[in-house]
Amino acid sequence: MSAGAASKVQNMDTATLVLATMRRRGITGLPRNYELVYEALNASNQSLTREFESLSRFPGQDELDLLGKKHFPHHHRQTVVEGAHDKMTDEVTAMLRLLKQEQSSLESYSKLLGETSKRISAKTASSSEFLTSVLGVLSNATGDTMEKGKVVVEHMVERAREMEQVKLELDEYKRIANTDPLTRLANRRAFDETLSNLYIDKRAAMYHALIVADVDHFKKFNDAYGHPVGDRVLGIVAAVMKSAVRKDVFLARTGGEEFAIILEGTSQEATIGIAERLRRKIETTPLKNQKTGLDYGPITLSLGICMASEASGAEELYNKADIALYAAKNTGRNRYMVYKPELNEQFEKSWNLYTK
Ligand code: GH3
Ligand code: MG
Ligand code: MG
Repeated sequence: MSAGAASKVQNMDTATLVLATMRRRGITGLPRNYELVYEALNASNQSLTREFESLSRFPGQDELDLLGKKHFPHHHRQTVVEGAHDKMTDEVTAMLRLLKQEQSSLESYSKLLGETSKRISAKTASSSEFLTSVLGVLSNATGDTMEKGKVVVEHMVERAREMEQVKLELDEYKRIANTDPLTRLANRRAFDETLSNLYIDKRAAMYHALIVADVDHFKKFNDAYGHPVGDRVLGIVAAVMKSAVRKDVFLARTGGEEFAIILEGTSQEATIGIAERLRRKIETTPLKNQKTGLDYGPITLSLGICMASEASGAEELYNKADIALYAAKNTGRNRYMVYKPELNEQFEKSWNLYTK
């Protein structure tokens, strides 16, 4: 028998002895237990052999670990690794909890950490190797996530920029959709919307008012000077009206030569004051051709006022203000008229014909 073969038998014998001892004393087949039993049976460390022999007949893992910790410095590391396992498991669990709150953008990272956490909890493999592999996975995951995070942030910034652009475009679209191109005032669409919102708060609606205004004999004006001059005059009328009311007052061009003003939280007295101011301003606005010096003469407005308390809804309010306007037209034009129920009997019949 060669020396190599003899040592193989010797090795096999030791291995068999280690296994038999472990089985006999109920020692779990953990790598660190094999090492401990092997060293104890090998008798290279007398005190270890003695202490191993004096362990209880079926030593528990705690007893074995205490012995290993005493005689093998790397078994100390084992305990440190075990501690790190727990700490990391806790950390990962806490991170998972946080990540769950972070939701979608971090979902994939959460999944990765979840897998790692599971592997840490399993605690099966040799601990130092295992910790190294876990750290590797985690650091890869962290690196990956930082990269992904950067990309996500860039995407978010880009998306935010795009959203801002879309918002600006939508704002612009809304502004265009709600603006009358000739006068730059709010258009009929915006007026209808604002008026329909007036009665949402029924109690507050009691203090609102509507003024409708219509240019007098504008057909004649167009006939006399032409439609393009008529357009320019409508622009002037709008500008004068705008300059005569507060900035927060809602002013719209509701149709051809028709305008409307919605006043919120205003008394009838104040509303009348505004209507009269507008009438006078328009009447006194000089209308001259800049090039030829031709005087187009004064333009006048008729106005109908209705306090929101006179109506129970937007449509009724508009109709009643229109009845008042019709009354102003029928009693001489270039004046305002406040809606009152008596106007119904006086003008509603002919107003109904006029609106058809
Ligand atoms: P009333 O005093 O009864 O309101 O008389 P009116 O001539 O103003 O009223 P009518 O409803 O008979 O005619 C309105 C005129 O307004 C008809 C049209 O020529 C003119 N008009 C409507 N829209 C425009 C516009 O956008 N530009 C111009 N230049 N004229 C317009
Ligand atoms: Mg009209
Ligand atoms: Mg008119």
